[in-house]
Amino acid sequence: MSMDLYVKPVREVHGIGPQKAEDLSALGISSVGGLLDYFPFRYEDYRLRDLAEVKDGEKVTVEGKIYGEPVMQMMGRTKSRMTCRVMVDSFLVSTVWFNRHFLKDKLRPGTEIVLTGKWDSRRLQLTVSESEFPGKADGRTGTLQPVYSVGGSITLSWLRRMIGQALKQFGAMIEENLPKELCTQYDFMARRQAIALLHQPGSLEEGARARKRIVYEEFFFFQLKMQAYRALTRKRADGIAHPVDLPAVRAFVKTLPFRLTDSQLKVIAEILEDLQAPACMNRLLQGDVGSGKTVVAAVALYAVVKAGGQGALMVPTEILAEQHRRSLAKLFEPYGIQVSLLTGSLTARERRETLASLQMGMTDIVVGTHALIQDDIFFRNLGLVVTDEQHRFGVNQRAVLRRKGMNPDILSMTATPIPRTLAITAFGDLDVSTLQELPKGRLPIDTYSVGHHMLERIMAFIAKEVDKGRQAYIICPLIEESEKLDVQNALDLHAELTHSFPRLKVGLLHGRMVPAEKDAVMADFAENRVQVLVSTTVIEVGVDVPNATVMVIYDADRFGLSQLHQLRGRVGRGEHQSYCILIAEPKSETGKERLRAMTETNDGFEIARKDLELRGPGDFFGTKQSGLPEFKVADLMADFEVLENARDDAAALVSRSDFWTGADYLELRRFLEREGILGGEWLD
Ligand code: ADP
Ligand code: MG
Repeated sequence: MSMDLYVKPVREVHGIGPQKAEDLSALGISSVGGLLDYFPFRYEDYRLRDLAEVKDGEKVTVEGKIYGEPVMQMMGRTKSRMTCRVMVDSFLVSTVWFNRHFLKDKLRPGTEIVLTGKWDSRRLQLTVSESEFPGKADGRTGTLQPVYSVGGSITLSWLRRMIGQALKQFGAMIEENLPKELCTQYDFMARRQAIALLHQPGSLEEGARARKRIVYEEFFFFQLKMQAYRALTRKRADGIAHPVDLPAVRAFVKTLPFRLTDSQLKVIAEILEDLQAPACMNRLLQGDVGSGKTVVAAVALYAVVKAGGQGALMVPTEILAEQHRRSLAKLFEPYGIQVSLLTGSLTARERRETLASLQMGMTDIVVGTHALIQDDIFFRNLGLVVTDEQHRFGVNQRAVLRRKGMNPDILSMTATPIPRTLAITAFGDLDVSTLQELPKGRLPIDTYSVGHHMLERIMAFIAKEVDKGRQAYIICPLIEESEKLDVQNALDLHAELTHSFPRLKVGLLHGRMVPAEKDAVMADFAENRVQVLVSTTVIEVGVDVPNATVMVIYDADRFGLSQLHQLRGRVGRGEHQSYCILIAEPKSETGKERLRAMTETNDGFEIARKDLELRGPGDFFGTKQSGLPEFKVADLMADFEVLENARDDAAALVSRSDFWTGADYLELRRFLEREGILGGEWLD
C-alpha cells in the first residue's frame, strides 16, 4: 500500500472524530492505511435462504410477511419479550423478539420484513436477533457482513461503516505493491480490489479470492525480508574467511572417542566451507535430541581457534554452560586451547578476569549464557558464535548482532525439531543443515504411560537398573509441596527415596539451588556418584549423561509434548536400552493424546508436528519470545503452501541483479530499508 495512506491520520475519514480516533488507536489503528488493513476474521451471512433447507439451531436470514398482531410482555421496566407470527415461504413461523418493544408499532400484518435469527425447526420458531425492512438503501439483507474484533467504544456496526467510508474516500489511493510478474503468474486481483472485497465480498468465493492475494502478500513481504537479508549477507562478503587448517581438523576428528556418523561428517563439511568463505555464515544445525550436535560445534570451534579466531558458545541454562565447558575443556586440553565460563553467577572479580582474558585473546573459547555477546564484552578476535538450543533467536536479533560491528560466523543449533512450516518462517534467512541419523548402536527408547498405582513397581525397576550399573532421572513438576496443586514435588520425593533406597545415593536438583550446588550435583551424577537424580525441569535441555537409562516423569500430563520429548531425550544417549515412564492419569482428550503420541513414536519431528497440531503455532515456541511474526490474515498451518511459494518467489527475486537496481523494484527496496535490512545505498 502506498506509504501515504499509512501516514494519513485516521481522523481524515469522515465520521471519525478525535475521541473515536483515540479509541481506534487502542485497537492498533492510527492511520487510514491501518484502518483499511484491519481485516475481518469472518463474515456474517445475511443472504436470504429457503427455510426448508435450514438445519435446526442454525442462524439464518429469511424474508417474510407479518401475519398476526405482535403480542408483548414487559419484564420489568426495560426488558420485554414479544412474539409475532410471520409467513416465511410456506411456513407460518412464530418469531420471538427480546427487548425490541419499540418495533411493536411497525409490525403490522402484511408488512414485509427481513429477519435474522436462530431457527428452531421443531417448534417452527425463530428467535430474532436482527431485523430490517426491505428496500433500505444500504441494508444488510443479501450481503455478507464483515466481523471485526472490536472493543471499548468501538462497535461492530460503527467500524463497518467507517471502513466502508474509508474505502469510498481513499480506496482509489491503494496502490499495487507486488511485482507485476507475480500478479500475472498467480492471476491475483489488484490490491485495491482485494482490500475492498476482503471487507465487502459479494460472495464467499470472492472473499476467498481476495484473501488468497492478501495472504500471499503477507508471506511475500515477510519472506522478502528474510531472503534479502540472506542474499545481502552473502553479497557483502564482509565476514571472516577463516584460513582453516584442514589436515589439523581431520587429525582432531580422528582423536575423538567415537567415529562420527555420515550425517555429522556431511554437516561438518558444510560448516567448514562456510567458515572459509568470506561471507558471514548463518547456519542452522537441526538434529533430534541425542543426534550429536555438540561434537559438530566442537569441531567448528576447533577449526576457528586453529585459524586464529575466538569462539563463543551460548546456551540457555547455567547447568548446560557448565556441562559444555567441562566437555570442551576435556576435548581441547591436549591442544592448549583455553576454555572459560561466563555466566551470571561469577563473582565480580572472576567476571573481570574472564573479560580481560577474552579481550586480550588469552581465552580461546568462552561458554556462557545469553548475556555473553551483549553488554560490555569485547573479544580480541571473535570468529564464531554457536548458539545451542537457542531456537528463539529471530532474524532481527541476528541483524543486530551483525551491526554491532562484529561479523562473526553464526551457527545456531536446535534440538527442538521444528516442523518445516516454522523452520521456513522463523529461520528463512538461514542455511539449514540437518543431522538425519542418530549415532550407531542406539536402541529406541521404550516409553510407557502408567497410572500412579504402578509407583512401587517403577521403583523396583529403577533399583534393578541401578544394580546393572545404570542411573535414573525422576522429574517432578514442582520443587516443594503446594496447597493449590496436587502434584509430586522434588523435595518430598527426594526425602522419601533417600529413605527407601538406603543403598543408593539419591541426588536433588532444582532451580532454587545456588549454581555451585547445582554444579556439584550434576558432576556427581555425571560420574555416577549419584545414581538417582530427583529433579525439576531444569535438566530439560542439553544435559548429557549417557549412562542414565531411566527417565521417570511424574504428573506427565502437566508438560507439553515437545517438553516431554526433550526430557525423554536425556536417556537413550549411550549403548544401553533406555526407558521412559510417564506417570499420569490425564482427564482431557488432548492430555491423553499427548501421552499416546509419546508412546507411539521416538521421532522428534513427528512429535513436533503433533505438538503443533495440538497447540497451534502461536504457542509452539512459548509465547512472545518466538521470533515468529504475527500475520493479520495468513494462517501458518492452513496456508503453508502459499508460504512456500512466497519463499521461493522472494528468493528468486533477490537473486536477480535488476532487483537491486531496477526502477520497478524501488518500492520493494524502500520497504527493506524501512525494515532495517538495507542501508540507503541501494535506493537510487
Ligand atoms: P545433542 O544433539 O542432543 O546435543 P549430544 O551432542 O549431547 O546430543 O550427543 C549425545 C551423546 O552422543 C553424547 O554423549 C555424545 O558424546 C555422543 N555422540 C555424539 N556423536 C557420536 C557418535 N558419532 N558416535 C557415538 N556417540 C556419539
Ligand atoms: Mg545438545
